[in-house]
Amino acid sequence: MSDSHKYCPSLTQYERRKTIEVNIGGVPLGAENPIRVQSMTTVDTMDTEGSIEQSIRMVESGCEYVRITAPSIKEAQNLEEIRKGLRAKGYKVPLVADIHFTPNAAELAAKIVEKVRVNPGNYADKKKFEELAYTDETYELELKRIREKFEPLVKLCKEHGTAMRIGTNHGSLSDRIMGRFGDTPLGMVESALEFLRICEDLEYYDIVISMKASNTRVMVQAYRLLVHKLEEEGLRPYPLHLGVTEAGDGEDGRIKSAVGIGALLEDGLGDTVRVSLTEEPEFEAPVAQKLVSRYANRPGHSAIASLDESPVNPFVYERRVTQEVLNIGDHNVPRVIADFSKKGCIEVKDLKEIGHFYLPEPDKWRMNDTGADYLYSGSHPVDFMLPNGLQEIVDFSVWKNLEDQGKKYPLVQLNELSAVENSQLTFVAIESNELESIDQLKGIDNAIILLHTSNTHAMASLRRFIFELITKEIDLPVVINWHQEISDKEDFQLASATDIGGLLIDGLGDGVMLAGNGNKKVENDTAFGILQAARTRMTKTEYISCPSCGRTLFDLQETTAMIRKRTDHLKGVKIGIMGCIVNGPGEMADADYGYVGSGKDKITLYRGQEVVKRAVHSDYAVDELIQIIKDDGNWVEPEAMEAILN
Ligand code: SF4
Repeated sequence: MSDSHKYCPSLTQYERRKTIEVNIGGVPLGAENPIRVQSMTTVDTMDTEGSIEQSIRMVESGCEYVRITAPSIKEAQNLEEIRKGLRAKGYKVPLVADIHFTPNAAELAAKIVEKVRVNPGNYADKKKFEELAYTDETYELELKRIREKFEPLVKLCKEHGTAMRIGTNHGSLSDRIMGRFGDTPLGMVESALEFLRICEDLEYYDIVISMKASNTRVMVQAYRLLVHKLEEEGLRPYPLHLGVTEAGDGEDGRIKSAVGIGALLEDGLGDTVRVSLTEEPEFEAPVAQKLVSRYANRPGHSAIASLDESPVNPFVYERRVTQEVLNIGDHNVPRVIADFSKKGCIEVKDLKEIGHFYLPEPDKWRMNDTGADYLYSGSHPVDFMLPNGLQEIVDFSVWKNLEDQGKKYPLVQLNELSAVENSQLTFVAIESNELESIDQLKGIDNAIILLHTSNTHAMASLRRFIFELITKEIDLPVVINWHQEISDKEDFQLASATDIGGLLIDGLGDGVMLAGNGNKKVENDTAFGILQAARTRMTKTEYISCPSCGRTLFDLQETTAMIRKRTDHLKGVKIGIMGCIVNGPGEMADADYGYVGSGKDKITLYRGQEVVKRAVHSDYAVDELIQIIKDDGNWVEPEAMEAILN
């Protein structure tokens, strides 16, 4: 890999990035240690017993570090009681104090717990949402001011053997960073480096760094850029804490976490993982464990042809330039192909599982937002008229004998390609290790590649093939054909989202075909979920809901469910649901609308980052939120038909 694009040990051979070891209360992180799993409590930090009980549930579910919010000095002090209570019950789990805005709480916590997390966006700054143009001189003065505020904490951590996470959040960058670098991955990296340089200057190195965002693309680019900059500046290779903020709940939250975190783990980045779900915290560690466990035996994967130079810039999103074939590639959204090839005889009712519904009464087909675009029927072509929005792919050996080839396209193996007429639109099945066959595709302009891999290092192997296409200037669209026999729904979603997400984040892939779960609805919904999580095709409302913590002012799970029930037909609209006004508005940087707790039973409603209504009683807040969406012209009535369809 060229030095200007280097961010991981290898793009083709799995290898964990070599990092320094950081000791956190006897559970060391980084270097040769396993990738650790952690989570955060949600009960009020002043509720000592509640915090102890919840921490124990988290530990029992696999959590190796427990983070607890310390918004002020009294909570920081109470960490001592929580710690004592846990130790008395035999739990030695290291505790991490989560700090925003309050250096005095951080300094106290550093003497009590094993690690302190600071957010460089708000440790020394209160956000004023000012757009300031800094001169080099005023910027330097700001850095001096930060150092004065931050240095005492660093010295205390050094003295007490306390580790620190410098945890940048995309949504809470300081005005200074925003003014100079904007709301960008580079701004996120620089935000952490300002603090890191102070630490190194004071010879304090027990540091872990994170670059979290709810936008998976921004998050992945920021982590990659961080690694690159650490090396470029000659700073130490600090361990990375990976996370996607406000991922949401249920399967959306799991898929989104797998897309963002998985994309980095695949390249060997990451020493600890926190999956943030709007659910009880003990549900987070098992998901994180599943993401991490994929790498236990990964280094022994089948060889992938090495690569000297990446043909894409890993720090900037740019979709691979392809030609349009059918409605695939070029500027088309990535397409979803439903794989029914193992089904045998396909019936009308089967299509309901992939979002196409036949209504006998008007004798019409209807499609929901996750209606598949193509159906692969293998050697059993459908014998009824398909809906307009659905086209069919049939194995070439069967297709060539069909009387009515109509809207059906052949799928050929590479060695059958010469048997197809030149003018025929064709899907070509290729294995990712068939690099030497790529030349056969030169000069063809009416084929779509259906790319499969059997390599356990799947993402890298698929990526390597697409890189070869780019290098050889072959611009045929590529649909990722991902097939693994995994009947457990969550396991299937995490594995497919990890393997495919990293490709989409790099602009590679013009469609997906998932198979192996056995449930066509799960496969179809997962395919659309991955495209949405990688921000390449928005088909649903996106909920950016915080995981909640001791600051939370309402029941996040209940409220998220209530808002989801009323708004989940608003395709592509992003709604932030945040438990507190201290961090909420910043954390939902990406949302179109925000529902933020601002007091007991009080909600503040946002349009983007702008406050629209303050202190609305929670009894009416969802109605008011919908009214704002209506006033903006972004509301559509949920079709009565949807109720029938679903
Ligand atoms: S936004 Fe949510 S998770 Fe973040 S501090 Fe506020 S309540 Fe806690």
